[in-house]
Amino acid sequence: MDAWIDEGVDRSSFMWSKLVPNKCNIFMWRAFLDRLLTRMALSRRNIMVDKLFCVWCETSDESIEHVRTGCRVSAGIRNAITNWCWIPGMFVFHVKDLVEFHEHCGVSGIYKTVIHGIIIIIACWRMWKARNDKVFANKDTSVAETEADIKSLGFLWYKHRLKQGVVDWDRWIKFNLM
Ligand SMILES: [Zn+2]
Repeated sequence: MDAWIDEGVDRSSFMWSKLVPNKCNIFMWRAFLDRLLTRMALSRRNIMVDKLFCVWCETSDESIEHVRTGCRVSAGIRNAITNWCWIPGMFVFHVKDLVEFHEHCGVSGIYKTVIHGIIIIIACWRMWKARNDKVFANKDTSVAETEADIKSLGFLWYKHRLKQGVVDWDRWIKFNLM
């Protein structure tokens, strides 16, 4: 294990979500430990990359912190999601702030469960997919498309994995879960 990876990371703050498949939890865990292969991560491993900058905004080097917290494109997606969920804007400086967001955003019960699993983890997972589509297929995905993708996939897994007490699409889209 690389020494730099775990520096200063308190692993106990990471919680697994039962609302998303394991592949999503594992993805988030890898992001939390800075193990996603961003351009900066590849460069640190002495792998040749033609460019270091972020594929979305092209204004900063592509580190996991930038993609998750500093990039204006990911900030646009986060704003869209927080508006939908009626929660205050996220001020995130580290992936840890995303991982713990559901604990500090003033919600409880089903809202807390859904925001943690469906919103945060799926949002990060689908944002990474959009990033990969750009890197490997030069496919642009708009903020609105990613937002719609997060909402529809979230609804699918919410219904499938919770089964009881779920609301229909009309309520979901208004984030009225009770
Ligand atoms: Zn960026």
